[in-house]
Amino acid sequence: MKPLGPIPGGYSAIDGELAIAGRKVSELVEEAGRTPLFVYSRALIAQRFADLRAAMPERIRINYAIKANSFAPVLEFVSTLADGLDIASGGELEMVRATGFDLSRVSFAGPGKRDEELEAAIAAGVTLNLESANEARRALAIGERTGTTPRLAIRVNPDFELKGSGMKMGGGPRPFGVDATEVPALAREIIAAGCEWRGLHIFTGSQALSAEAVIDMQAKVLDCADRIAQEAGVALPKLNMGGGFGIPYFAGDEPLDIQAVGDALEERFRHLPDTLAEAELFIELGRYLVGEAGVYLTRIVDRKDSYGETYLVTDGGLHHQLAASGNFGTVVRRNYPVAIASRFDAEPTQEANVVGCLCTPLDRLADKAQLPHAEVGDLVAVFCAGAYGASASPSAFLGQGPAAEVLI
Ligand SMILES: *Cc1c(COP(=O)(O)O)cnc(C)c1O
Repeated sequence: MKPLGPIPGGYSAIDGELAIAGRKVSELVEEAGRTPLFVYSRALIAQRFADLRAAMPERIRINYAIKANSFAPVLEFVSTLADGLDIASGGELEMVRATGFDLSRVSFAGPGKRDEELEAAIAAGVTLNLESANEARRALAIGERTGTTPRLAIRVNPDFELKGSGMKMGGGPRPFGVDATEVPALAREIIAAGCEWRGLHIFTGSQALSAEAVIDMQAKVLDCADRIAQEAGVALPKLNMGGGFGIPYFAGDEPLDIQAVGDALEERFRHLPDTLAEAELFIELGRYLVGEAGVYLTRIVDRKDSYGETYLVTDGGLHHQLAASGNFGTVVRRNYPVAIASRFDAEPTQEANVVGCLCTPLDRLADKAQLPHAEVGDLVAVFCAGAYGASASPSAFLGQGPAAEVLI
């Protein structure tokens, strides 16, 4: 037996079935007309924002990193709740443009920005979080050629990382950001060249569940930003402090204590150095805002036994759920929270493997899980599917195509 991850709060059973925002999954699937289906809940996303804002200092602005989930209705809804949006490609810029969001509240990070992407972003008034000195010079040249003043911030590759984070994005040699030691000179250079100076972006990692680690990281981010500003002799109009807030995916994971993080930040904000006194301070989050508000529903199409183990074979799989299958940056595969959605309040009576329909042994949704008895036709729910599900899975693999998605 292998344990399943913890089912997030906010879900219930109606007539024995999983209900999302008060709606039975069988009805949702019927309305959508097919499985697999991602269901995202407005109410749960709104609740998450409200809880986060209550825990954080007033002064903190909250940006949404749209790569976590860019399904148009979700993006549109989240953009009414977030202070800004973070994009990482020209394609994402077009998605944001389509929502009508104020593009001066959008910032664009990510290595390998092409000239066309830089030009589109500069023309739109998006802030570029520069990933290298070369990118800075290309952006300035494009601004010059098109007669537009680029809004530029520098993404810093700091000399520390977010401890215990799932994906490390700073500290040591990285493709992301400008090494902290090089930033003051580059800041002076781009300010002298006449850019609209937007300050610094320091993002160090993702998926941290330890409040202590996040508090430690945020303290170091503020110190690092102050050091750079002093050395460059400039003030910081903005500081994007990164994010990294994680959600529990696996058995034994405890939710991040955001109140502790907010309290520590409040305390720090009481003695901010002069360089940061006037700065707008941001955090940028993806999965924390939307991850637990999404459920992936897939139907069992076959049930079989093989050398003593039971397999529940579904019409979904890693082509929509790369992370849940254990193939998106995990070292040891562990089970996400998974349930038989059509028998949500039934007691577990069997050990079963839930697999997808792809012809590869990588396609597993739950290994040796304790589940209620389930048959062909039953629905399986994979929780924590609101972030890095549809947007981060290879839906073209084996000709399967994307899942249906709905925001309720
Ligand atoms: C991916 C990313 C995020 C969001 O990460 P989450 O783990 O989803 O919160 C934020 N900022 C940057 C720069 C990123 O690359």
